[in-house]
Amino acid sequence: MKGDLVAGVEVHADRDVCIGAGLCVLTAGAVFDQDDDGIVVVLDEHPADVVAARDAVANCPSGALSLTEE
Ligand code: SF4
Repeated sequence: MKGDLVAGVEVHADRDVCIGAGLCVLTAGAVFDQDDDGIVVVLDEHPADVVAARDAVANCPSGALSLTEE
């Protein structure tokens, strides 16, 4: 998002923890997808839209997602 002066991030997903709620895909569909079992798949480990990625991490009900600041 413009005006958001943040460094890049690296997105991590723990597929063993994911419960397949799908909120990450709804929040940041360019960053996350779900496999046939509904488990999260990271499409873009270094997303340009850091704000959406942060929102997805914050909203994940299982705590499967995390971010590393670069
Ligand atoms: S929001 Fe969390 S629990 Fe839901 S699919 Fe994404 S990673 Fe899995």
